[in-house]
Amino acid sequence: MSLRFHSLVKRKAVRLAAAAFLLFALLALAGWIVAPYCVNDPMVRLRQITPTHTYLDRNGIPVFYETTHDYEWRFPVELDDIAPEAVSIMLSAEDYAFYEHGGVDYHAILRALWQDIKNAKIISGASTITMQLAGFALVDHRPSLVRKFKQAAMARRLEQLYTKDEILTEYLNRIPCGGKVYGIEAAARFYFGLHASQLNRAEAALLCGIPQKPNRYKPNAHPEAAKKRQKIVLDLLAHHELITADEAHAIYDSEPLRYRDFTQPADFEFKAAPDETIHAVRRARAEKNAEGWSPSQGEPVLCSIDADFQRDIQAILKRRRDTLPGVRDAAAVVLDNASGEVLVFLGTLDFSEEDDGQYNAANAVRSAGSTLKPFLYAEAVEGGLITADTRVLDAPLRYGDYAPGNFDGAYRGTVKASYALSYSLNTPAIRLAATLGESRMIELADKLHILASDRPRSGFGLSMALGSAGHTLLSLTNAYRALATDGKLRPVYFRHDPGRALPPGERIFSVGTVQTVMRMLTSLPLTGFEGTAAWKTGTSNNLRDAWCFACTETLTVGVWFGNKDGSASESLVGGTAAAPAAGEILSLAASKYDLTPFRSAWPEEDELEPVTVCAKTGLSASPGCEKTETSVKPAGIPLAICKSCGDAASAENLFRILSPIPTVYIAEREDGVELDLSPDEGVSWFVDGLYLGEKPASHIFVPGLHRVEAVRASDSAVDAVEFTVARKK
Ligand SMILES: [Zn+2]
Repeated sequence: MSLRFHSLVKRKAVRLAAAAFLLFALLALAGWIVAPYCVNDPMVRLRQITPTHTYLDRNGIPVFYETTHDYEWRFPVELDDIAPEAVSIMLSAEDYAFYEHGGVDYHAILRALWQDIKNAKIISGASTITMQLAGFALVDHRPSLVRKFKQAAMARRLEQLYTKDEILTEYLNRIPCGGKVYGIEAAARFYFGLHASQLNRAEAALLCGIPQKPNRYKPNAHPEAAKKRQKIVLDLLAHHELITADEAHAIYDSEPLRYRDFTQPADFEFKAAPDETIHAVRRARAEKNAEGWSPSQGEPVLCSIDADFQRDIQAILKRRRDTLPGVRDAAAVVLDNASGEVLVFLGTLDFSEEDDGQYNAANAVRSAGSTLKPFLYAEAVEGGLITADTRVLDAPLRYGDYAPGNFDGAYRGTVKASYALSYSLNTPAIRLAATLGESRMIELADKLHILASDRPRSGFGLSMALGSAGHTLLSLTNAYRALATDGKLRPVYFRHDPGRALPPGERIFSVGTVQTVMRMLTSLPLTGFEGTAAWKTGTSNNLRDAWCFACTETLTVGVWFGNKDGSASESLVGGTAAAPAAGEILSLAASKYDLTPFRSAWPEEDELEPVTVCAKTGLSASPGCEKTETSVKPAGIPLAICKSCGDAASAENLFRILSPIPTVYIAEREDGVELDLSPDEGVSWFVDGLYLGEKPASHIFVPGLHRVEAVRASDSAVDAVEFTVARKK
């Protein structure tokens, strides 16, 4: 009875245990089946890892690589872009049954388990390529059974969602290859200076061995360990009968491996582009960012620059710099007139130079010398004040303490405007500036986008006409582009986009005006260039900057020589330092691009119309003018009438300051005395050498001696008066 009872209890217990076990097994099986549906798709997380950004020049030459995700080098490629042999070596080394299993290789697990039991320690992980790929998406890297189970579930999820080739491609693009190098393409580039498509068997066997212990088998740091690991991979190849044992030995023994360091394309075996392209690359990236670019997209950024052209220009500038004593730096900008794309943005001759090699002189605010004069003349032409044949006065002048002379110290008297501009005479330009006034010059500079936004908007005085307000090479080159095209200012671009819709542009000058001014600028040949170019040089005060801008119909070139620290040199003269370089650049450009000669025909009737002018002044002839001649002016803009001839002259020319008068004023107020300035149309006022504006009604003069000057715009007549303000007793 008790025996029976016992056996009954025992049977019941066994049945219970069997049921429990069955339940557990069923639950485990169910768990195993549903597990893949309970984990997230690992690919989502993996694809958030940003690959290395590649920047290409306009011709597809890589100019810069930018690591973004934790400074890692990642160059994802397609499976077709990897040497097929490298792919089979990787499969042989990591997961020979890859195309047979569903993410988890049960045979391998049993084999590994058996090995582990036999050796009483864990020696084999049996991780498939899919599991490893899933593992890359796991944040927790500590090995544990739970992690392993999760990884297996994720691997099966991957196999459900993606094809084998997709999984393999992702894997090959993400394998850790030591340090910050990830993926087979990055490893091929980093260690061998090759593409993954170019790897030979020996190289592939070495690279495919690295992922197992990336930092231990990193070949440039541990060449012997890497070589040993290569041996294991080669033996596996022989084991899988992909090669013979003899071949494995031969590869191991005979083929030397060339390790190299990878930094930038300059050091890479691709057609090299220098580090100096970085300034353009940064601008291209800024443009991309402004467009809301998502950096996770792996496609390369196409820059507007022509890396070959820029490198050749760099060589030209270096060679010329070396002939200029006391000059260390130079910069160049070349714009494609039609598209506004920046072909060359060279801000430094040597990026690696320790002191200020990385400083971008093409975007530095410098004194622009005479290079602003064409805009000043254009503004005067646009306002009907002058045309090419209008006489301007080249004679000493003084506004307060400001007495600019000519570069050569000589004065030529009355000359045509075209002569004054092409020979860059200073005093006619300053007289024009006085006529226009400072506020109009600032307004013009703002319209041309050549005055940096952080610069003040007053207080430059007339020297602004000689570039003293400070301008950048890039902004000036683009302003010249407006002169070289249709008088409209359009933006520049650092990204190459042939399909870009170009903005209509902002009208600064009429077409007739730019034709008038560009005709003046083409009157002299440019040294070193056989074609026709419109060009202008500039030399800043005290010989600190030498400039030249040269335009053809197709391109606009800007060149600067100087020292980044602002030091002066006798060699820094626009005409001798910068102009020949600009000529050489245009010659080079002519060999690369289809350079349309600059307005070769200059159609008189285009946007210009004939005008009868006074032979003495070059202004529209009045009945009093004795001799007349025919000139041209922009269509639709009336040219000022000559007032220097006949009866009108004497009355018109009387130009006197009526108030203040030369006397002693008594200070009525605490801070001095307020005096009328007899305002009149078109008259600029200066107090103690400072420009006040065109129509100041009055001014407060502090006690002391003062000098007031007035300049009439129409004929540059000047009157001055000195007086004293005494304190009230
Ligand atoms: Zn006249």
